[in-house]
Amino acid sequence: MPESIHTLVVGGGQAGLAVSYCLKMLGVEHLVLEKASQPGYAWRHQRWDSFTLVTPNLSFQIPGAEYRGPDPDGFMSRQEIVQRFEDYVHANSLPVTFDAAVTSVQPEDGAGYRVTASGRVYRARNVVMANGWYHQGKMPAFASKIPGSILQMHSSSYRSPQSLPPGAVLVVGSAQSGAQIAEELYQSGRKVYLCTGACGRLPRRYRGKDVFVWLTEAGFFERSAELFNTLPNHYFVAPQLSGRDGGHTLNLHQFYRDGVTLLGHARDYVDGALVLANDFKENLARSDQGEKNMLENVVDAYIRKAGIDVPEERVPALTDGYQAPEVTSLDLQKAGVASIIWSVGFKYDLSMLPMPVLDEYGYPKADRGASSDYPGLYFIGIPFMPKLKSGFIYGVGENAQFVAEHIAERE
Ligand SMILES: Cc1cc2nc3c(=O)[nH]c(=O)nc-3n(C[C@H](O)[C@H](O)[C@H](O)COP(=O)(O)OP(=O)(O)OC[C@H]3O[C@@H](n4cnc5c(N)ncnc54)[C@H](O)[C@@H]3O)c2cc1C
Repeated sequence: MPESIHTLVVGGGQAGLAVSYCLKMLGVEHLVLEKASQPGYAWRHQRWDSFTLVTPNLSFQIPGAEYRGPDPDGFMSRQEIVQRFEDYVHANSLPVTFDAAVTSVQPEDGAGYRVTASGRVYRARNVVMANGWYHQGKMPAFASKIPGSILQMHSSSYRSPQSLPPGAVLVVGSAQSGAQIAEELYQSGRKVYLCTGACGRLPRRYRGKDVFVWLTEAGFFERSAELFNTLPNHYFVAPQLSGRDGGHTLNLHQFYRDGVTLLGHARDYVDGALVLANDFKENLARSDQGEKNMLENVVDAYIRKAGIDVPEERVPALTDGYQAPEVTSLDLQKAGVASIIWSVGFKYDLSMLPMPVLDEYGYPKADRGASSDYPGLYFIGIPFMPKLKSGFIYGVGENAQFVAEHIAERE
């Protein structure tokens, strides 16, 4: 017999827990189904050992558990993040069922959904998909052609330099995760090859404040369709930036000076060699340009418009790396590469839904999270749904409140 419940939330990460908190405040009967056995799965199992938040502590704005600690400008460790989510569940007695992996969400004739999770069947009037935009690591198809003697993993499985076999490491992808991992590896003494992409850099501090604070004040994270439409592939890529060691800038020019071999996009693997695009200088230029654009067009423009009196700052124009030769092929054995870390992003998995719910860009067709085609179906934790901040700890609460109220009003 299916168990009847008013609302089911699929996934107990920050998005699912925030919805649960808001539903609880509104008195809506619900259950969170979480496939892991403890809270904080993504932060506990999908981040490396030395991971810290990249956004400052003050960005921890989960409803009912907003950061009030002594170090708003600091960057909390992975362990502290996990602890905060554990405390959140327990302090608010959120109704989470662990070890419940949802495998199917079927719309039922009439109203509601039939949900199957680890052998149990539920019938619910509403289902909130909170299973994580950044949950399933992407790997290119050609990775399967690389010999098994080289250890390959997605960035979400990387733990520490010591956990890798001796030898050089190829990091593919130079956005936030790839750049942080490459930095940790070369600073530990590893030879690192880094396949760059088009991701931009941000300075950690600028004109007297953390860049996150400026971007927040400037309303950057409030942006929705306007910003979305200007992004390549309509996908936000987290900039090169770190919260480690008190927070610092990540800079490919510095990497080059420190001995990292910068390469272009990895395109294929043929006859023992990685095939590379002839574009690493272009990527370096994009990283520089990304910084310039964000600082001039967002931060400086905001400071000017708001009439804020802070000293001007010019970030240095950097040139290291531009003189290096472009390489279009890397023989992995000759280069001594023993491990590859694919830091090429995540894919959104909605395979448990049999119906078409995504638009041409791979985003759910939904207004602020409420499905346009399937009443009672919701999506949460997705950047630009409806705002950029909706995919981050800082902004998921606003959307959680909207979704919870929408559900409550369906009564
Ligand atoms: C490397 C990295 C660094 C980041 N750093 C920051 C940062 O500094 N600041 C910030 O604000 N944001 C950051 N983010 C973005 C975002 O805050 C995190 O990705 C966050 O984990 C998203 O929370 P979520 O609840 O949407 O998804 P998740 O945390 O991924 O939670 C989804 C949950 O759903 C569960 N689940 C998945 N499938 C099923 C299923 N079929 N059945 C049941 N349960 C299921 C999972 O086990 C998981 O617990 C970062 C993201 C990444 C990838």
